Amino acid sequence: MNEQILKQNLTNIQSKIGEKDVTLIAVTKFVDAETTRQVYQAGINNLAENRTDKFLQKKEALSNLAPDIKWHFIGHLQSRQVKLIINEVDYLHSLDRVSLAKEIQKRANHPVNCFLQVNISGEESKGGFEPSQVVTVIEDLAKYDKVVVIGLMTMAPIDASPVQLHEIFGELRNLQKEIASKKLSYAPCQELSMGMSRDYEIALEEGATFIRVGTAIYDEK
Ligand SMILES: *Cc1c(COP(=O)(O)O)cnc(C)c1O
Repeated sequence: MNEQILKQNLTNIQSKIGEKDVTLIAVTKFVDAETTRQVYQAGINNLAENRTDKFLQKKEALSNLAPDIKWHFIGHLQSRQVKLIINEVDYLHSLDRVSLAKEIQKRANHPVNCFLQVNISGEESKGGFEPSQVVTVIEDLAKYDKVVVIGLMTMAPIDASPVQLHEIFGELRNLQKEIASKKLSYAPCQELSMGMSRDYEIALEEGATFIRVGTAIYDEK
């Protein structure tokens, strides 16, 4: 894509982050390996994909060029696909059921940085645990030493108002603080993965530490 526009878009997002200690993850699921390479060369080394086949293709395509990329997996992960990628990811944002943790325990060679996905808004179409389940689920995960819950992740509805976005992201932050206060070695839960192109500014206000941005990086308008 046009280098100038790409850089302008990134500069714009980075200016919204400002001095905050926040990791900008470029979601590359919409773009090819060439554009992904441009994003990396513009200084972004946290990249995310949501499908296992694309994830592996991108990682392979950029492996020589960029050994320092941190790879994030943000999509729903089927249990039978765990073995394909679990030792290739740096962060898994979509731990959405206990049976997935069990499969990770079986397949991972090392502890995996995971975000527990929480369905704060209660939308049927969205995956993740209900907020009321989170504390118990975290307790259940104690037995899986390959799963380290570094934080919580959520997605807001497409049509949420600013007020609703503040509520949703604020609720995730409250849950995160509750878990963090337990000081569990297997679930330090210091991080908040929240905010996408249309809502990352509000997520930043509510304490996001990782934002996952796609469209806003590639927008040629
Ligand atoms: C696609 C996707 C994003 C990025 O979405 P944009 O609206 O393009 O920024 C973020 N998180 C998840 C889980 C996604 O699937």
